[in-house]
Amino acid sequence: MLLGLPIVTCGYRSNAEQNALYAQGRQSLAVVNQLRKAAGLSPIGKVEAGRVVTYKRSGQSNHNHLPSLALDVAHLQEDGSVKWDNAALLLFSRLMRYADKRITWGADWDRDGITSDEQFRDWPHFELHG
Ligand SMILES: [Zn+2]
Repeated sequence: MLLGLPIVTCGYRSNAEQNALYAQGRQSLAVVNQLRKAAGLSPIGKVEAGRVVTYKRSGQSNHNHLPSLALDVAHLQEDGSVKWDNAALLLFSRLMRYADKRITWGADWDRDGITSDEQFRDWPHFELHG
């Protein structure tokens, strides 16, 4: 089975971008897209805007550090499409953990190797703790 090439879809994220993401699922579609515009992001639809994608406000995410202490990963397929696949990310998380013990995976915040005991699973997310 080919998983595809791991690619980084997000590294550093500005405070304005973090604000816009935090608004998703908490503010109206108009407010979300107003914040996205201010951050230089393209507008999104009602369904996506209604979905909580982060619990971190601006400045609180490890994506807000420069250089970034967090990265989001997807897998590039042979046909050029990008896939967010939890099974592929699970395998990638093992590689990351092997590479550096300080890395925490967003689907296993408590680092016990179990993803089902997490309240919020951010499958593509990896971050570094000092
Ligand atoms: Zn992330």
